[in-house]
Amino acid sequence: MQQAIKKVVIAGGGTAGWMTASLLRKVLGKQVEVELVESEDIGIIGVGEATIPPIQTFNQFLGIDEKEFLRETNGTIKLAIKFENWRVKGESYFHTFGAPGANLGFCNFQHYLMRAHQNGMKKSLWDFDLNYLCCRGGVFNKISTQNPMFDIPYAYHFDSALYGKYLRKLSESAGVKRTEGIIEHIKQCEKTGNILGLQLKNGIQIEGDLFVDCTGSRALLTQKTLGVEYEDWSHWLPADSALAVQTDRFDSTLPYTRSIAHDNGWQWRIPLTNRNGNGIVYSSNYTDDEQAHDRLVNNLDSKAVNDVRKISFKTGRTKQQWHKNVIAIGLSSGFLEPLESTSIHLIQSAVVRLLKLFPHNGITQSVIDLYNQESQVEYETVRDFIILHYHVNERTDSDFWIDMREMAIPERLQNKIDVFAAVGNMFNDQHDIFRDASWLQVMLGQGINPQDYHPAANVPSLEQLNETLDKIAEAKQQPLSKMLPHDEFLKHYLGA
Ligand code: FAD
Repeated sequence: MQQAIKKVVIAGGGTAGWMTASLLRKVLGKQVEVELVESEDIGIIGVGEATIPPIQTFNQFLGIDEKEFLRETNGTIKLAIKFENWRVKGESYFHTFGAPGANLGFCNFQHYLMRAHQNGMKKSLWDFDLNYLCCRGGVFNKISTQNPMFDIPYAYHFDSALYGKYLRKLSESAGVKRTEGIIEHIKQCEKTGNILGLQLKNGIQIEGDLFVDCTGSRALLTQKTLGVEYEDWSHWLPADSALAVQTDRFDSTLPYTRSIAHDNGWQWRIPLTNRNGNGIVYSSNYTDDEQAHDRLVNNLDSKAVNDVRKISFKTGRTKQQWHKNVIAIGLSSGFLEPLESTSIHLIQSAVVRLLKLFPHNGITQSVIDLYNQESQVEYETVRDFIILHYHVNERTDSDFWIDMREMAIPERLQNKIDVFAAVGNMFNDQHDIFRDASWLQVMLGQGINPQDYHPAANVPSLEQLNETLDKIAEAKQQPLSKMLPHDEFLKHYLGA
């Protein structure tokens, strides 16, 4: 007889811990007791400021009011990431959350565009993307539309430490018990190896049926106690260090993240309402801390308001995200550099998966296996998407970029690149969080030009095709008249 799950214990109270606690409590209500242990002495990693659109669903499900959330977290709107100097120095492209173009029938929009390009049309993919047009003008507004052509999917930039605090307030008022203290010892069942309880330094003992390891890169329960192995991906993604610093806000707030490639990695700029988040990501195999530090501080757009902080990491994931009666969520489950702002989303997706498969009548190996298979594909497809940015480059200015271009990449990614290069199509993996429009923008942005387009794009006459494309581009401009400069939108939406 399996043991019913009556109590979940969450170890760790960073973004992962509080996102897990709030959603478990919301969905499972009073059927399952939720207790979270965290230590103020240890603290949280305290970086992580850019997200992707599904965070809206997460907040809405918790009943969070968007205006309150933005005020509480100093949040701003994020429509895209601008990648600068990635293919070659001096060039940039956007990966927006929008869907460029329109649905034109049997084959995807890019095929029609490729035919038009071959016949001299000058408009780029992004001229058909409302998110891009808003980024270009630095504007945003919430418009209600039934027409998917005019959707403007967005995410947020926010202070993740404040987000954690906000979720803590909501979770505690919904009945999550929070216990302060340092976990010193972990009690295991001698027979099964399952975790039975946590012993804190202050003498408190906490028992539970199911444990969630949200202890960040310490991975106390999964890697340290259960000995779950870590799969190292640094041969594909060699960055192992970041330096982070906060600076004064700019006069005007961009509605997108900037990712600026440098000789041996890249630098981020994330605008919040009260300040900017900045950082540099690099590989210690190619550059040292001092050089990276100089590059960061010499490339800040405004005055630093705190000290530069170093964070080291190893890219990869735990081989099993669920092992025995413990699930790793957050940085304890793996690390992927924040190039596509995916970590907070991976937390969300892991908690949703846990809830879908929640073993209220007892844990079975088949459920564990399914959970692990799904999270493996999800992690690997994000990894591949990140590798794509590095691998498909034409930079010749450093060994770093040459090595990234020449390395062998995962087979699944190589297949995706080959298919796109040959016939301009993408294929999706079921648990890939990035859809066609994302892969398309990064493939084109990094400089892959398909050799061929789909024959269905030859059906309209060239005149008809150009006319249709002109009309779509024109239509995409229309909502711009309703947009406000980003700061004005925030002021108007949130109050002074
Ligand atoms: P942590 O924040 O480290 O929390 C760990 C918790 O465990 C803390 O509460 C700690 O007190 C507790 N703990 C640990 N040991 C013990 C113990 N012995 N006893 C009791 N408690 C303990 N993600 C994004 O989505 N977007 C971004 O833009 C982004 N940028 C990033 C930039 C950098 C440089 C880095 C390194 C990461 C970035 N991330 C980003 C990732 C993001 O920061 C994390 O995914 C997120 O903060 C979740 O962290 P966590 O909760 O897993 O770990």
